[in-house]
Amino acid sequence: MKESDLGGQLRSAATPPFKSQLRELITWYKRQLELTGVAVHVNTEIGEDDLVFEKADAIIVATGAIPMMPPIKGIERAINVLEAHLDENKLKGEKIIYCGGGLSSCDSALETALKGKKVAIIEMLDEVAAGDHMINKASLIPMLLENKVELYTGHKVLEITAEGVRAMEKDGKEVFLEGNTVVASFGMLPNNETAKAIDAKYHNKVRLIGDCTKVGKVGGAVRSGMYAALSLR
Ligand SMILES: Cc1cc2nc3c(=O)[nH]c(=O)nc-3n(C[C@H](O)[C@H](O)[C@H](O)COP(=O)(O)OP(=O)(O)OC[C@H]3O[C@@H](n4cnc5c(N)ncnc54)[C@H](O)[C@@H]3O)c2cc1C
Repeated sequence: MKESDLGGQLRSAATPPFKSQLRELITWYKRQLELTGVAVHVNTEIGEDDLVFEKADAIIVATGAIPMMPPIKGIERAINVLEAHLDENKLKGEKIIYCGGGLSSCDSALETALKGKKVAIIEMLDEVAAGDHMINKASLIPMLLENKVELYTGHKVLEITAEGVRAMEKDGKEVFLEGNTVVASFGMLPNNETAKAIDAKYHNKVRLIGDCTKVGKVGGAVRSGMYAALSLR
């Protein structure tokens, strides 16, 4: 694995105080890997030309997903949602603006608001966390409102500047929201370049699992890993 610690996206997903079950899941997997003697190579980036693949009987690729950074003017000024979760120091200043209002954005926005920052979410759709399960939303939305997270739904992000975000309402009216740090949280994209290259080279013994095939959730990633493992017997 490329990183210095196990967990992938879960390391960031699990930082909010209200995500303790995800933290426990990482701890549980680390212990299981120890108990079963799985060799874990941290800080090791793999590529299709690695010799280790030549000798392997089977290869399961789980390269996950990376933050989507659409070509919006000034996007390079923004930090991404993984950084917002993992590195408090990157959330500079008092007012933090989240661009994109999916579930992972709402979680991170709430975590930031709980740290005492002023937080706003700009979302193009008419609701935040659209597509998320009703039960999640029933607790998440009241928590966002209780912690005074401002929700700008029906607003499309046009530009990120040094002073904040320029957005457009549905009727075409432009607004400017002042902020010190902007978080790009437009969702995730499959990190599949290396995965596709390994698959192309060793197709008969490769299985691709988790978010590198389709961005989803923990349950789907774990299930696809289980099916891949069962298929090896
Ligand atoms: C902010 C956020 C919050 C989320 N919250 C939830 C939630 O509440 N509930 C839920 O069910 N899901 C949640 N998710 C989604 C969930 O985290 C993912 O679906 C899940 O982690 C996917 O697992 P994966 O193993 O496929 O990929 P990842 O978790 O992305 O792991 C991929 C790993 O592969 C490594 N890697 C990539 N390329 C290479 C390479 N070339 N060489 C070596 N290693 C490499 C990466 O460093 C990473 O460690 C959230 C995601 C995010 C971003």
